[in-house]
Amino acid sequence: MQIRFWGVRGSTPAPGPSTVSYGGNTACVSLRNQAGELLIVDAGTGIRALGQALADAAGGEPIAGALLLSHFHWDHIQGIPFFLPFYRASSRFVVYSFTAHGSHFRDHLEGQMQAPYFPVPMSKMGAQCEFREIGEGIFSIGHYRVTTRRLHHPGGALGFRIECDGYSVTYASDHEPDGGRFDANVLELAAGTELLLSDAQYTREEYLVGRVGWGHGTWESAVDLAARAGAKQLLLFHHDPDRSDERLAAIVREARKHFPATRAAAEGMEIHWPEGTEESAVQIHGQQASPPAPTQAESAAARRC
Ligand SMILES: [Zn+2]
Ligand SMILES: [Zn+2]
Repeated sequence: MQIRFWGVRGSTPAPGPSTVSYGGNTACVSLRNQAGELLIVDAGTGIRALGQALADAAGGEPIAGALLLSHFHWDHIQGIPFFLPFYRASSRFVVYSFTAHGSHFRDHLEGQMQAPYFPVPMSKMGAQCEFREIGEGIFSIGHYRVTTRRLHHPGGALGFRIECDGYSVTYASDHEPDGGRFDANVLELAAGTELLLSDAQYTREEYLVGRVGWGHGTWESAVDLAARAGAKQLLLFHHDPDRSDERLAAIVREARKHFPATRAAAEGMEIHWPEGTEESAVQIHGQQASPPAPTQAESAAARRC
């Protein structure tokens, strides 16, 4: 099994010179198992480049896969209108997510493509897409075994434990620790997992100054959850759009004092199993960023997705 990161940023895309190393696109990761099955988790702006890569690799051949959506905040769905495989009639995808807002989740995806927001309605994209509602539970996608649990996040979100080929990845983006049942859900998903992707948008200091209840965690809560769950590796994920490469690299250094097998997810990063436990098998740009810059004033803009 392998995992690749196409978008690691939270809330809103953050391109620019201060985020070149870790990347500015919002949440999207892809997995491939030994059978070659494609499983995508979340469709932030990172999915655009994934779509181009899939189209390039496929040539004119059909593209098939599954897409798991954790929830419907823009940073997790906004790449869908730019996902090239959805414009090919030969493509076949199954999209999975939950309904918690009074209508089928397909309506949420179609809504962002309605006029005047986008010129092409989702119904005109052309691919054969099936939309399957899921809740908390365990189900199969091809050879993948997926366990879902609810996370603590405004409007709700799902966390995923994805198991295949004898390995497991836990995706727990957009989770604010609650010290209770939702944390227990994350701990259950991440128990003994090879790789835990955890919401680490803020520092604890930032969190306590006006960000309680926004639905996100801190790097401190991420290392705590990783240790308690017995995860083998931790990837800090859903980076704040204001987080510079230098500051993120400094956070990783600090986090490693508490949970040594910690890194920060970066665009272009790939991890392969069974070699994934070897540092050399990981292609990272940005992990060697220079020392931290002085703390910058925090943006006053609210970031709740
Ligand atoms: Zn988010
Ligand atoms: Zn969100």
